[in-house]
Amino acid sequence: MIKSNSSMRITQTAATVTALMGFEPPKGADVPNEIVMAAAQKAFGEEKVERALLYNPDAIAMWLYQKYTKLFTPIVTNTQMALPILSVMPSVTPVCFASMYSGLNPEDHGIQAYVKPVLSCETLFDAALKAGKKPIIISTEGDSISEIFKEREMDYIFCATPAECNQHALEILAKDEHDIVVVYNGNYDTQMHRTGTESVEAIEELKKNAADFEMLLHAAEQAWAGKRCMAAFLPDHGCHDIDGNLGSHGLEMPEDMDIVHFYKLWK
Ligand SMILES: [Zn+2]
Repeated sequence: MIKSNSSMRITQTAATVTALMGFEPPKGADVPNEIVMAAAQKAFGEEKVERALLYNPDAIAMWLYQKYTKLFTPIVTNTQMALPILSVMPSVTPVCFASMYSGLNPEDHGIQAYVKPVLSCETLFDAALKAGKKPIIISTEGDSISEIFKEREMDYIFCATPAECNQHALEILAKDEHDIVVVYNGNYDTQMHRTGTESVEAIEELKKNAADFEMLLHAAEQAWAGKRCMAAFLPDHGCHDIDGNLGSHGLEMPEDMDIVHFYKLWK
C-alpha cells in the first residue's frame, strides 16, 4: 500500500454521477461518494440532477492544490466541495480515466498499462445511453479519453488543441442538446512532462485549467438556468519530477496517486 491517507476513490466517480442523475450505474461500479450524495440531498432532496459538466484536466495532483492553493481560486470559489481522492495503479491516463468512468479497478476494466483499447466493459456513457440520456465527449484527438470510450452511440468532438476543445464546449453548452458534457484538457500534463511539474511554463498551464474550468462552469450556469445541475473538476492522477527537469507519473507514490476532485451542485 502507498502512504496515502485518501479514503475516497476515483472509481466512485461514475456511480456518483449516475446516482445524482437518477440512473443505474455501470455494471460492477464502485459506490457513490457519500459526501457528494449528502450535498445533493441537502440541495435537491429526492430530485435528480438534469445536467452535468465533467471537466477532466490531466495530472493535477493533490500536492499542487496544497502548494499552489491560490492558483485554484477560480475553482475553489466556484465549487462547494474539494475532496481528496485516491487514483489507481499504474497512475497513467488511460488506466485512470477508465476507472473514473467505469467505476472499476484496472484489473476489472482491463487497461493496466499505457494502452488505449476501446473499453468493452460498461461505462458511465453506456449507462447514460441506456437511461435515455445524451452524453458528449469533447477531447483532443488521439488522447486516452478520445480512444477508450469510442464505439458508443453518442456524440464526440475531437479537436487539435485544448483551446479548441473549450471553444467547442462553449458552443455545445450554449445549444443545450446534451445531458452530460465531458471536456478533457491535457495541457498541464503535456507541459510538465517537458519542463517539470513546477516550471513556469507548467504553472501557466495549471492556471489555464483553473480559468477554463471557471469559464465553462459559467457558460453551463447560463445555458442550464432553472435546471438542477452539477459540475466537477476531475483530474486522473498526479505527477512528480524526475531527473533532467522533466515531469512524470505512473508510480505508486502519493505525488502520483493523491488527487483532488471539486464538485458543485446548483439550480
Ligand atoms: Zn493523465
